[in-house]
Order: sequence, then structure tokens, then C-alpha cells
Amino acid sequence: MTEALRNFIGGQWHAGASEIENRNPSDLSDLIGRYAQADRDQAETAIAAARQAAEAWAVSGLETRYKALMAIGEELIARSAELGEQLSREEGKPRAEGIGEVIRSGQFFTYYAAEALRQIGDSADSVRPGIEIDVRREPMGVVAVISPWNFPMATAAWKIAPALAFGNAVIWKPANVTPASAWALAEVISRQDGLPAGAFNLVMGSGGAVGQSLIESPDIDAVTFTGSLEVGRRIAQACAQNLTKVQLEMGSKNALVVTDDADLDVAVAAALNGAFGGSGQKCTASSRLIAHRAVRDVFVEKLTAGMQALKVGHALAEDTQMGPVVDAGQLDGNLAYLDLARSEGATHVWGGERLTRDTEGYYMSPALFVDTGNDMRVNREEMFAPIACVIEAGDYDEALAIANDTEFGLTAGIVTKSLARATHFRRNVKTGCVMVNLPTAGTDYHVPFGGRGNSSLGSREQGRYAVEFYTQVKTAYIAAGAP
Ligand code: NDP
Repeated sequence: MTEALRNFIGGQWHAGASEIENRNPSDLSDLIGRYAQADRDQAETAIAAARQAAEAWAVSGLETRYKALMAIGEELIARSAELGEQLSREEGKPRAEGIGEVIRSGQFFTYYAAEALRQIGDSADSVRPGIEIDVRREPMGVVAVISPWNFPMATAAWKIAPALAFGNAVIWKPANVTPASAWALAEVISRQDGLPAGAFNLVMGSGGAVGQSLIESPDIDAVTFTGSLEVGRRIAQACAQNLTKVQLEMGSKNALVVTDDADLDVAVAAALNGAFGGSGQKCTASSRLIAHRAVRDVFVEKLTAGMQALKVGHALAEDTQMGPVVDAGQLDGNLAYLDLARSEGATHVWGGERLTRDTEGYYMSPALFVDTGNDMRVNREEMFAPIACVIEAGDYDEALAIANDTEFGLTAGIVTKSLARATHFRRNVKTGCVMVNLPTAGTDYHVPFGGRGNSSLGSREQGRYAVEFYTQVKTAYIAAGAP
């Protein structure tokens, strides 16, 4: 039996209190590996190691940070074919998307390598003559990173890279469903000589044990999380006890509006990508398709044809466009949502079949419903599934009102040829990101990412905006005295 891959704590590789197996959702006979599981004691050891390393890393020098981050980013990009294949093997997204995710992860590191050098604060004269003011940013200290399985490397990279760039020590608890990608990224980081022991720690383990230890600890200065609303709420409550700085990126129920003047080929391409890319397992997925009454039928007809042409199969097969869903729990949940949609009165158009392939895996076809109301649970809850529901709207104003009628607010999209409508939508939709004639999913790494409502809490992630979360501001007053 292969030895379990270990956790990285205080600069050393440590066996866990227990182990888990990781299997390929495209082929359940394929054992990817065995991975250590930290317990609460090991989480405490990691916190102590990070505490100790934080001071050294904070004064490590900007070029040390630049070089470490650049080396990590360049290695990820150089090894994207190998690591991307492994990512697809464990998460189930098609190979090209797995490779793309690894490249993107590398880009977060190279981008924040450069940001490490942009440590330029503000200076001002005091209102009191003879006194100068220096405003500078300092690291938070120890940052806990808790990440999900759907982008097992990129989500972590967009948190770890800025945390390290701005001089913080990191403790990373990745999702247990996708430990191979986490371990691979941690292994690359572990080889950077410039990082003092303990400045970066990997603690694979369950959310209930390791995650809970991190969020309850008074020795953690900031917690950044991406995942479900339910766990996000729990984290916010735990952080409130210690007044720990917290940033939460959670679910959504993103709407794609198709107006009566839309180019329907653009609309169908956006819906196919947005609703079914990554098997719908994206917080930016377009699960609500709001179509104007005049174009609804043609849009549904073309979208259905596009769905029927999508190749569902093994994530590593050359022609696969949609892989399996990530695990049995996710598949069962998706099938239950199909039953719910029917019981709520939605009309099933196509898909949602459990599929068999040459290998045993969690395959299903993408599913589409029409005649759905925005008050139905399938239009209110994040399904994280390759299931889309069409909601009919009588005019643009109604479509916008439906788009905004949700507890979430991560992304929204509009497909229209009208500049006036596109502009109005951009300004009036209540989301953190908005797309015009593009899928709701698919964002860049150099600009802010985040949502409103119950999709997000705290300051924005990514781009220069990340500095807000990973640093704290100090205002110094200096009386120079007489020369
Ligand atoms: P979770 O929110 O359950 O998990 C996300 C991360 O939080 C994982 O690392 C998990 O650990 C950890 N975690 C779980 N419980 C705790 C806790 N008490 N304290 C600290 N950390 C904890 O998401 P899932 O992965 O289970 O997915 C469930 C649903 O969440 C999806 O169906 C989807 O709706 C949503 N989701 C949204 C994402 C997004 O990008 N917005 C991403 C992923 C999921 P572990 O899993 O190892 O136990």
C-alpha cells in the first residue's frame, strides 16, 4: 500500500493522526493516493509554528518575497500539464480546464510577486505644523486559508499568494475531497528556501476538526474562506468570538438575462459555458436563465441542441467537454434537485440522466427546466450542479427585478445588442461582478473578485484590492524637531 502523503508543519513533513483515500470521480477503481489527516493537536502545532515564523517573514525583505513567489508561480506554469492532469483526475473537470487552473494558480503567484514590491504607502503633512505623517501597511500576522474542492488549486493560490506577498504566515486547510492538488501546491511552496520554517503550513484534515480549530483559535489573525454559505456562517460566528478578521466567499444563484434583442448564438454559448462548465460546480455558474418571452422558445431550442452535443465523459478523455461531478454526495444531491424541480412544477426539457461510461464514475447529463418561477427552491438555493432553470420575463425591467430577487449577489450576465440596456444592467444589477455578452463564470486574476448579499463578507479578493484583507494600516506621526 502506498504511504500517505504528509502534512507540512513548521518546515517538516508530518504523518497524520489518520489517513484518507482519494479516488478519481471519472474512474472509481483509480486510487489517486492516500493523504494524512491532521487532528486538533497538529492544527495547534501548525498555529504555534506559524506564530513563530510570522515575525521573521514580516521582515524578510521584499525581494525575498518576490523571488519565492515568482519561483512558485513559474514552477506551476512550467508543470501545468502534469499538475493539471492530476487536478482533473481528482476533481473531474476536463483536462484542458485542469491545466488552465494550474496556469492560473501560477499567475496568482507571479502577479503577487510583483505586488510584493509595490509596498508604497501614503505620506502627508499633519494639520499641526512641523509634524509629518507616514501611513504604511503591515502584515496581519497569521492567516488561516480554508478552501473548497471545486477549484482546488486556484482558490487556494489566490489566497496564499497575497497572504505571503504581504508578509503573513499561512496555515492552509484544503478541502478533503481534493487533497492531491493541495499537496502538489504545498510541495512546490515547501521547497522555497526564502520562506522560514513555519511561514507556510499545510494541514489536511476535516473541516470539523482542523478547520474548527483554526477558526476558534485566538492565535489566528485573519481567516479567509471559500465554500458554502452554511459553513461560512459558522466561520463568521467563530471569528466574532475572538474578533478575528474574516473574509468569506460563498455561494450564489447567478442570473443570465437574455433580452429580446439578444444574439441567441451568443446567449446559448454563454449559457452552455456558464451553466454546465465544470459540471455546474462553480460559485459563478449561471443556474437561472432569465429569457424574454419573445425569444424564450428559440433560446431553449438552441440551448437544448447545444446540451445534447456536449460530450460527457472521463475528465482525461480527449473529447470530453463535461466531466463527472465530484463525488457521490454531490451526485445524490443533484438527482434530488431534479426531483424537487419536477415536484415544484417545473417542466423538464432535457437531461439529468445518470450516465454510464467505460469506467464507473459520477456521470450525469446536463439538465434543463422551463416554466420555473423565481420563488421555487431550485431558483433560490445554490445547487452546484449541471442543472439550469429558465425563467420567463415579459420585459427588461422584469428580468432585472428577477435577477436581483435573490439572497446572493456574486455575478450576473446580460446578453443584449443594446448599449443602453447593457449599461443600465451593469449599473443596476446587485452583484459584485457583471458580464455583458459573456458567461457569468470566467474572471481575471488582476482585478477584484467578490459578491454582495450572502455571497461574500469582508473586503474583496484578488488584484490590488487583496491588500485590504492581508494587511493592517499604521499611521505614524513624526515631529522632526529643529534642524
Ligand atoms: P464546505 O463549505 O462544506 O467546505 C469548504 C471548506 O470548508 C472545506 O475545506 C471544508 O473542509 C471546510 N469546512 C467544513 N466545515 C468547517 C468548519 N466547521 N470549520 C472550518 N472549515 C470547515 O463546502 P463543500 O466543499 O462541502 O461543498 C458544499 C456546498 O458548498 C456546495 O454544494 C456548494 O453549494 C458550496 N460551495 C461553494 C463554493 C464556492 O466557490 N462558492 C465552493 C465549494 C462549495 P472539508 O470539506 O475538508 O471537511
